[in-house]
Amino acid sequence: MSNSLLDTPIEYLKGVGPQKADILKKQLGILTYHDLLYYFPFRYIDRTKFYHVNEISEDLPYVQLKGKLVSAETVGEMKTKRLVATFTDGTGSLELVWFQGHKWIKDTLRFNEDCIIFGKPTLYKSHYNIAHPELEYSKESNPLLNSSLQAMYSSNEHTKKRGLDSKGIMKLQRILLSLIHNNIPENISTQIIEKVKLISREEALTSIHIPSGIEALKKAELRLKFEELFFLQLKMQKIKSTRNATVKGSICAKVGEKFNSFYKQYLPFELTGAQKRVIKEIRIDMGSGKQMNRMLQGDVGSGKTLVALMVMLIAIDNKLQACMMAPTEILANQHYETLLPLLTPLGLNVALLTGSSKAKQRREIHEKLESGELHILIGTHALIEDKVQFQNLGLVVIDEQHRFGVQQRYKLWAKNTIPPHVLVMTATPIPRTLAMTLYGDLDISVIDEMPPGRKPIITTNRYESSRLAVFGFMRQQIKLGRQVYVVYPLIKESEKMDYKNLMDGFFNIQRDFPLPEYNVSIVHGQMKAADKDYEMQRFIKKQAQIMVATTVIEVGVNIPNASIMVIESAERFGLSQLHQLRGRVGRGADQSYCILMTSNKLGNDSKTRLDTMVRTNDGFEIAETDLRLRGPGDIAGTQQSGVLDLKLADLSKDSPLVQLSRDVAQKILEEDPTLVQPINKPIADHLLTLNKEKTNWSKVS
Ligand code: ADP
Ligand code: MG
Repeated sequence: MSNSLLDTPIEYLKGVGPQKADILKKQLGILTYHDLLYYFPFRYIDRTKFYHVNEISEDLPYVQLKGKLVSAETVGEMKTKRLVATFTDGTGSLELVWFQGHKWIKDTLRFNEDCIIFGKPTLYKSHYNIAHPELEYSKESNPLLNSSLQAMYSSNEHTKKRGLDSKGIMKLQRILLSLIHNNIPENISTQIIEKVKLISREEALTSIHIPSGIEALKKAELRLKFEELFFLQLKMQKIKSTRNATVKGSICAKVGEKFNSFYKQYLPFELTGAQKRVIKEIRIDMGSGKQMNRMLQGDVGSGKTLVALMVMLIAIDNKLQACMMAPTEILANQHYETLLPLLTPLGLNVALLTGSSKAKQRREIHEKLESGELHILIGTHALIEDKVQFQNLGLVVIDEQHRFGVQQRYKLWAKNTIPPHVLVMTATPIPRTLAMTLYGDLDISVIDEMPPGRKPIITTNRYESSRLAVFGFMRQQIKLGRQVYVVYPLIKESEKMDYKNLMDGFFNIQRDFPLPEYNVSIVHGQMKAADKDYEMQRFIKKQAQIMVATTVIEVGVNIPNASIMVIESAERFGLSQLHQLRGRVGRGADQSYCILMTSNKLGNDSKTRLDTMVRTNDGFEIAETDLRLRGPGDIAGTQQSGVLDLKLADLSKDSPLVQLSRDVAQKILEEDPTLVQPINKPIADHLLTLNKEKTNWSKVS
């Protein structure tokens, strides 16, 4: 099979040899012919375009000019020795500079003959120069010029030392492409190629390196992006379909007494349409006989907790236990406080298990879990410990999913012979394309509606110079009975400084908001759990009007009377974090405010982040902007999964293609779940080679 040709080690390529091979491996991760072919250019330069010297400006990355060399001389001593040639095209002149190889180059220069130069202009002492330009004399045929778009490959000083600069890499690509001409196996079925109107793999790989024009390049990109996304989706969908075929879930067919009596008698308010819809989606899933793996997305404050509660009641109605896991103790406590009064009237037993639970409490909880006396367990990571065994665990709810690793989720799976249904809830809206890619094997439910009566939070950006006015506003709101959060950034790298800023800020506020009229509480990560809890409780009980904190309050905390969120050094926070923090207010009936304190000098990205916050309250819009600004790698813990090692496709720009590739992958697996049909052989073969690669896909979900 011709596949083996692509697997050929790179040192066998003409012009490579052991030393270059070593550099290619170590510096660029290129081990085989395949790897080289998939080492794509990072940009293209239009070689049909010529500039004049008098048009050059510093922001042009590369220019190509036609003219003549008029003179050249070696200047400088020792290390600064260099060759400087003067080039002119009638509109002006510039200098060409060589720092290396000047002796040899000097001998090759031809003066007063038409020539083309190409390179990056830099301004030095009000004169432009180009260092190490490409230089051709018009009479020679230039192999690079038969393609109007010249590929540029990224390289570094190590590769350059071995002649592997962009041009050197391109040379290898050409050798390889001519060598394997007519020998690149197709990896997508003809059916799909026709349907999606793709060019062949070979044509695409040729055009991506040597495009004959912009059209050809676009087609090549489309084909290769599709290929990339399609196999990613196919793997995810295969995990899902295999799981559905092999893992049985406990059947929660009944919606029984507890669910109904809660719904009829105890529900504190009418459910929103979106809450009803997702509860139904979940109910159907839990009753289907397969194991549910569902993600519940909903903006901060959209009412996910209540959904979680009602879903847990379904499990209980089917004689199963449920647990709910939160990423922090504060949050676990809060869920417990929220749910306890709702569950007790139903005659249900709930317990809280966290790192600070005492040994005696723990023992009691363990016993009651195993005997089945406890219906619901709420807690932190402590729930995962092996000692925690259930009689019959039917449902796991994980709040704020992105803080949990995949392994932890699997540990919960293993707590029952029939794996429990899993509902992961996330308050960081994830752009659709990203969710589809990253969590492609999960089903997704979205709460896209807020409980009624919420007033949109008013967000403003204020500078240090208006601090007095901001404090004045805080006083005025406190007089009206409201409470205020003041949040400081805390970043590992600058932890010491950040704690100092936090404490300085705290003392300033204590001075400006003195006792007995004002009480200020403080919560940060270096405090003991008991102290944190004490300070938190003071705020919850309205004994404190101001809470100074780090981002420990970022997730989930629900104190409806707190209606002002002041974020210090807001430019240092990421967009989704700002949105999370803002979500701590706007939970009650009062008009809420978010004040973003920043320096008055902001970089472009910071400015975009702050403007976005001021403009919109829509979590999904914010998530899209965040994706655009940061790229997928930084969002929602995606680094660890390694899924998003996309070479060409861009999740923030290629969403139609993500959707299409997903649809196509789904359809293929519906028609041919194990890919045994002859038409799908290219796909199956390729999938096999992919599975040999190092990424462990089973960990992705
Ligand atoms: P989140 O989705 O951020 O976890 P919560 O579950 O904490 O949101 O809900 C936010 C607030 O909205 C809570 O005070 C909750 O009691 C309230 N809430 C939830 N659902 C409704 C509803 N249908 N109508 C009115 N208020 C609701
Ligand atoms: Mg919540």
